[in-house]
Amino acid sequence: MKRKHSYFFTAFVFLNALLMLLEYSRPLTADEGMFPVSEIARLNLRAKGLEMEPADVFNAEKTCLIDGICRVNGCTGSFVSPTGLIITNHHCAYRAIQSASTTEDDYLRDGFQAKNLQQEIASPGYTVRVTESFRDVSTEVLSAVTEGMSFLERTKGIDRRRKEIEKRAEAENQGTRAEVAEMFAGKTYVLFLYTYIKDVRLVFAPPSSVGNFGGDVDNWEWPRHTGDFSFMRAYVAPDGSTADYSPDNVPYKPKRFIQVAPNGANESDYVMLLGYPGRTARHKTASFLEYEENVRLPYIVDLYGRQIEMMQAAGEQDRAVALKLLSRIRSLANTEKRSRGQLKGLKRAKIVDSRKASENKLQSFIDQDPERQAKYGSLLRDIDGVYASMSLKAVDEANFLNLRLSNQMLRLAYTVYDAAVERQKDDLEREAAYMDRNIDQTIRRSVLLQKDLDVATDKAILADLFQRMAKRQITPPQLNGISIDQLYEGSKLGDPEFLKKCFESTPEDLKGMDDAFLQWAIRLHSDYLAMRESSKKREGQLGQLYGELISVKQLFQQTSFVPDANATLRMTFGTVRGYSPEDAVYKSPATTLSGVIAKTTGVAPFITPQKIIDMHSSRDFGEYVHPRLNDVPIAILYDTDTTGGNSGSPVLNGKGELVGVNFDRAFEATINDFAWNTNYSRSIGVDIRYVLWVTDKVYGAKHLIKEMGL
Ligand code: ASP
Repeated sequence: MKRKHSYFFTAFVFLNALLMLLEYSRPLTADEGMFPVSEIARLNLRAKGLEMEPADVFNAEKTCLIDGICRVNGCTGSFVSPTGLIITNHHCAYRAIQSASTTEDDYLRDGFQAKNLQQEIASPGYTVRVTESFRDVSTEVLSAVTEGMSFLERTKGIDRRRKEIEKRAEAENQGTRAEVAEMFAGKTYVLFLYTYIKDVRLVFAPPSSVGNFGGDVDNWEWPRHTGDFSFMRAYVAPDGSTADYSPDNVPYKPKRFIQVAPNGANESDYVMLLGYPGRTARHKTASFLEYEENVRLPYIVDLYGRQIEMMQAAGEQDRAVALKLLSRIRSLANTEKRSRGQLKGLKRAKIVDSRKASENKLQSFIDQDPERQAKYGSLLRDIDGVYASMSLKAVDEANFLNLRLSNQMLRLAYTVYDAAVERQKDDLEREAAYMDRNIDQTIRRSVLLQKDLDVATDKAILADLFQRMAKRQITPPQLNGISIDQLYEGSKLGDPEFLKKCFESTPEDLKGMDDAFLQWAIRLHSDYLAMRESSKKREGQLGQLYGELISVKQLFQQTSFVPDANATLRMTFGTVRGYSPEDAVYKSPATTLSGVIAKTTGVAPFITPQKIIDMHSSRDFGEYVHPRLNDVPIAILYDTDTTGGNSGSPVLNGKGELVGVNFDRAFEATINDFAWNTNYSRSIGVDIRYVLWVTDKVYGAKHLIKEMGL
């Protein structure tokens, strides 16, 4: 798609100019670093180390650096060639590598390399998006809210309006994907338009002993020695339009690609990242943080910890089972360890206390003025009240919800029935996942989930949830006396043909089917609906309250805020630098191949391919050697502001060239999601020299090096 749809841009430029005149003449607060790209011009980046025009990083009118960035499912990627080659993390491509692997061709274990386009492997379930344009649609969205609406009606009204806008935008811009993102809860909404690519293929992946070296032991830690990168490629139909996988498809030609800088970046260098950070909660209250600290995070650590143990045990017995479960294990382990880091960080950095202190100041400011007092006087207390009531039922609700989130069979059964019920409604009234524009994706996800189903593990996870309920004197709901074994024996949902037939059925058809899981899901459906409605009600209430909170905070601090991360395109900048996580400890910002070798024990997750060990011994580093370290640099550390979703983000030098691929944060920086801090917030990227050395010298994929123009 060309940047022809300029009404978006005209509107955007106009709006931005207007906003700048109004409130954006205020400064931005210093602790905010995930800037919407529209802010780039105001950040004075040249003084900080940018060696190109800010207008060449982001420009609404012409092709610029951001056109070389894409979103790869929940991660970020960069186009690194004119023919759609994407670099992202190994952990972002993990699901694709897992799906392509069998016990004979075990690409997770051995790595994968396509020698030519024909050998590249389709990765169903993967999509790539490129941001084309965005514009503020807050007024239009909020006009759906009228006086006297209940909170539930408010959420539903806003939801429906968002869907209308998205549908209209997609109809006007064929082949694109539209999404209205909430920037500030209950207050600001922006319509993003994306080029949407559905044929994504695996090109190159190092073995897990490189791409996931150190595994969960090293995850969220610095120093780090992981070669967390992979290459994928985006394909489109021969006429350039977006299309499902077909052997006739051709590589996508991005408007712009990112030039790889084989010299990398060194300590004190300026770096910047572009990407799609997922979620942060910087504007949330102390009561929310208390809820996280006391309720949600401990629950996640406990539940996921147990599920990981069960899945690992099953995988150790049988590699075929492991190949079904590894991606899920990895994602749960990632969340579990991050949650532990956050719990520790919340306590250590006393984040709740400091947020309470700033809220006290805000309350005094509110109370100083009778008009403000009348409008905002009870605001903070009202928000606290919502979290207090949420906390009371949280564990029971979470157990109930996890029945259908953690147990794959109930998940399938529920999705099938929920889809059938929702599809009886008008398109705009449906839950988003079942709208005409989304249903194919939803079905595809279910098919993938079914493919990776391991019945024994699924049963064990269900039994564990039942035990958790029993401990709280709750009987597993509506089982009608059936045992777990009988549930599985009495269901055909593991059969692809049956699943397909279910997705084509009406609710009445499904009710008539003699399938134990399906019937259980149908009996549970109204309870889940009640839960969905009550969470929408809460969302409406919090949306309204947080909207007011942002308004009064802006009055108080006389400053503009950067919205929390919400999976839309952002930029962050900083410097390659070390840090001091505790008294008398300093960690420097670069690791080397010698460090990999020193960590290698031969026992997972510290196994290194023999070829790498040999090449290290013979110092066969080629042009990828670091001149001062006299070694291959592996990973770098920098003080940018990142979160999940920045996985795979390009680490760029001042000229906008690729010097690394972001993949993680230091343990202390897991707390970034709640509060960023110059002392402890550090992100981790794989050094481009390691990427190139592994791709070129170790595995001989010279054609990729050439394709990147090196
Ligand atoms: N490794 C991280 C993740 O996958 C990236 C980050 O959160 O910084 O979530």
